[in-house]
Amino acid sequence: MVVEGSIPTQAEGAFCTVGEKEEKPLAVLDWVTKLGNHSKAIINVGTCSAFGGIPSGTPNPTGAKAVKDILPKATMINIPGCPPHPDWIIGTIAHVLLYGIPELDEQLRPLLFFKGLIHENCERRHYFEEGIYAKDYGDEGCLFELGCKGPMAHCDVSIRGWNNGVNWCVRSGSPCYACTEPTFPDHDGGGLYGVLDKKSILGIPWRKAERKKPPKPVKLI
Ligand code: SF4
Ligand code: SF4
Repeated sequence: MVVEGSIPTQAEGAFCTVGEKEEKPLAVLDWVTKLGNHSKAIINVGTCSAFGGIPSGTPNPTGAKAVKDILPKATMINIPGCPPHPDWIIGTIAHVLLYGIPELDEQLRPLLFFKGLIHENCERRHYFEEGIYAKDYGDEGCLFELGCKGPMAHCDVSIRGWNNGVNWCVRSGSPCYACTEPTFPDHDGGGLYGVLDKKSILGIPWRKAERKKPPKPVKLI
């Protein structure tokens, strides 16, 4: 079973329904519970089904939960991301079909895609090492002081890129918001824009990975 979206649990799941049964709305909560109990494995696509995501952020009026909270004993793979990268989805499904369940980390994310931290391979890392920090959006420099969570984000888009490698979050000038982590979006009270404790991130290796060159721009007319 593949699930997208967190599961509202307040009001008996009335905040998200799919169709009707015996002329009553059928809650996704009930569907996921029923189908999940008959599934060999569950793939959660996106941070909402994997960890609760934005709907589960404070104050969470719908009682939104991750699928793991609904079916704690089920065999599960999490493909977080807000949004999740298409390569992660296709790659994981292909791996399940061809070879079985891939190796997972402690958050049930495939190590194929979620092994390293953004900060390890970030193209602005030299600014971090030199102490050059952007003070505002659009500035040159490392985005740490604008709340970049690259030092805690397990994700490979600093190498993989989005849209066939055209761009990615930090290159486009946006701090990483660690959208692949279970703490997203509250991040233990710091929220999306809170600055991490710098002392806690010193010592993260710098791998200077080879990057795919972006494809040549397509002439549209
Ligand atoms: S803090 Fe963010 S912008 Fe700075 S090097 Fe790390 S990942 Fe890149
Ligand atoms: S770089 Fe950060 S914000 Fe961008 S996809 Fe990865 S974890 Fe999410």
